[in-house]
Amino acid sequence: QDDQFKKVISHAKEYGYVFQSSEIYDGLSAVYDYAQNGAELKKNIRDYWWKAMVQMHENIVGIDAAIFMHPTTWKASGHVDAFNDPLIDNKDSKKRYRADVLIEDYCAKIETKIDKEVAKAAKRFGDAFNKEEFLSTNGRVLGYQEKINTTLSRMAKSLENEDLADVKALIEELEIADPLTGSKNWTDVKQFNLMFGTKLGASADSAMDLYLRPETAQGIFVNFLNVQKTGRMKIPFGIAQTGKAFRNEIVARQFIFRMREFEQMEMQFFIKPGTQQKWYEHWKETRLKWHLSLGMGEENYRFHDHEKLAHYADAAADIEFKFPFGFKELEGIHSRTDFDLKAHEEYSGKKLQYFDHEDNASYTPYVLETSIGLDRMFLAVFSNSLQEEALENGTTRTVLKLPSVLAPVKAAILPLVKKDGLPDVARKIVEDLKWDFNVIYDEKDAVGRRYRRQDANGTPFCITVDHDTLEDNMVTIRHRDTMEQQRVKIEDLREIIKQEVDV
Ligand code: ATP
Repeated sequence: QDDQFKKVISHAKEYGYVFQSSEIYDGLSAVYDYAQNGAELKKNIRDYWWKAMVQMHENIVGIDAAIFMHPTTWKASGHVDAFNDPLIDNKDSKKRYRADVLIEDYCAKIETKIDKEVAKAAKRFGDAFNKEEFLSTNGRVLGYQEKINTTLSRMAKSLENEDLADVKALIEELEIADPLTGSKNWTDVKQFNLMFGTKLGASADSAMDLYLRPETAQGIFVNFLNVQKTGRMKIPFGIAQTGKAFRNEIVARQFIFRMREFEQMEMQFFIKPGTQQKWYEHWKETRLKWHLSLGMGEENYRFHDHEKLAHYADAAADIEFKFPFGFKELEGIHSRTDFDLKAHEEYSGKKLQYFDHEDNASYTPYVLETSIGLDRMFLAVFSNSLQEEALENGTTRTVLKLPSVLAPVKAAILPLVKKDGLPDVARKIVEDLKWDFNVIYDEKDAVGRRYRRQDANGTPFCITVDHDTLEDNMVTIRHRDTMEQQRVKIEDLREIIKQEVDV
């Protein structure tokens, strides 16, 4: 598990996907830069989302609101008062942790034990093994499961009641140790606000305290009426947005899974009160389909329905993905009722209502939200795609099996040798294809090495120009995943690539 994750991180660096920010100064914790390939992959994920959510929906439009917002926004949204994480310090190591994450990690360790029991039994029973039956009858596994359930539900209850003393008690009873030093000497649990503050204006006394937005959603809520009126939108309709958000995260040790500066892709869907259940189901299903359309394996996704709901929600579920460190939240689907619009009405003194011509009545719409982290999606795609394959000749190859639609480079054009006019033909193919796809030219090293390089880079096609090309205008196209090679006409290349990489 840990090994696989380490491989993901080093591959991301080695192949120009993700660098640590300000690396020459030893980096900045939980802040990352997307490199030449990473920026392309990230853009392609964003575009894939935007196309599915905005372009394909007549009743959803996109906006791009500012990161700075009027400070009252964050009072109305509840972030000033309630956007807090429970923190605990270890007295010996002086390290600070999120108390809930310590407890969740403890449960994840128990889950690993369950997995081990399952694997052992599967080996022992072979074909006769029935996982469901094993899970529901094996005493030891049931004990582990019970421990996870009681721990998590006690934690949820304590957090909901803001009973921080009990969160601490739980950590002590479970004898949770500092992951780095093993010390069990904890302070009390305290709440900590996650918003980054800054100032607008030059002089000290007239400057206004601002926050960097911790979510993009509020830019949509405050623009609800502007968009509805100017776009003549009829309920139900949605407003989508992608953009940076900032959170002063305390636990930030899972690469780009939890960052201090990250990007969200959110859509708020405005609906008639009373229809939220239907739309909640609709968007859960629609969003899961979007994920599955990328072909990254149905078994790697699961829903997690929230029992403990945020103050604004009446139903909430996460789509969890199987990251190298286990199933974790990738996207949230929230039924937010009229909490946000009502709060902004109250704080701004402006009505944010919709006149329904069919009903001949005004109301404050309810909201269904889908919210996904672009960086987390990047990590999901990248870690799922990185594979080591044993080949027939006894060697292995590292291949990044990115969904073709998301791959940064769609094809590499390779002259077999650097002479006899082959580079000219290859360059001409690049010149022709670059209008439609991101393609590259590569003439360094033997062609086999170049294939391997493109495999590791995630490029779906290699196109090789050889001496026969000069006679027959045909090239060899090699498919990354199957390593199959075909002889095709140069003039057919565009269509062949298009078939594979278009949505
Ligand atoms: P978590 O429980 O993991 O902190 P959250 O429930 O606070 O996440 P939301 O506020 O619902 O997350 O944000 C929606 C999405 O934004 C999440 O599903 C996740 O993909 C992404 N996200 C949230 N915080 C971060 C972060 N610090 N770094 C990267 N992505 C994030």
